Amino acid sequence: METIFNSLKKSVCTDCGRDIQKDFIFCPWCGSSVNKDKQIENIALHEENMRIKWHEEQLRQDAKILDDLEKELTAYVVCAQLSR
Ligand SMILES: [Zn+2]
Repeated sequence: METIFNSLKKSVCTDCGRDIQKDFIFCPWCGSSVNKDKQIENIALHEENMRIKWHEEQLRQDAKILDDLEKELTAYVVCAQLSR
């Protein structure tokens, strides 16, 4: 069980033989490209991440707009209270 788990989490560089994390495309020790079959998977994952990031950015911008509106509203309320 543990070896399966380890092999899921870790991979070994074919060039320098050091342990590297499974999701690494390049070996951090020697810079060799590893997990060639994983590269396609990683690119897909990367694209997915980019899409999520873009989505988050949109949400963040929406939130910022709402935040600005709220600040504006608060300013109006303060003005209204001051002018009373
Ligand atoms: Zn290496």
